[in-house]
Amino acid sequence: MNECPKCHTSVSEILETGFVGCEKCYELPEIKQAVDALFGGKRHKG
Ligand SMILES: [Zn+2]
Repeated sequence: MNECPKCHTSVSEILETGFVGCEKCYELPEIKQAVDALFGGKRHKG
């Protein structure tokens, strides 16, 4: 079972609601994938 180590929100919960519990949630592999899909991989740093 995958959940955020910081806020303990589960991946399925985040995907279901579309809301993350904290910034650490974005580091979960499943969430990263979902975020990449949402933003079309067009992120750039800087
Ligand atoms: Zn979290």
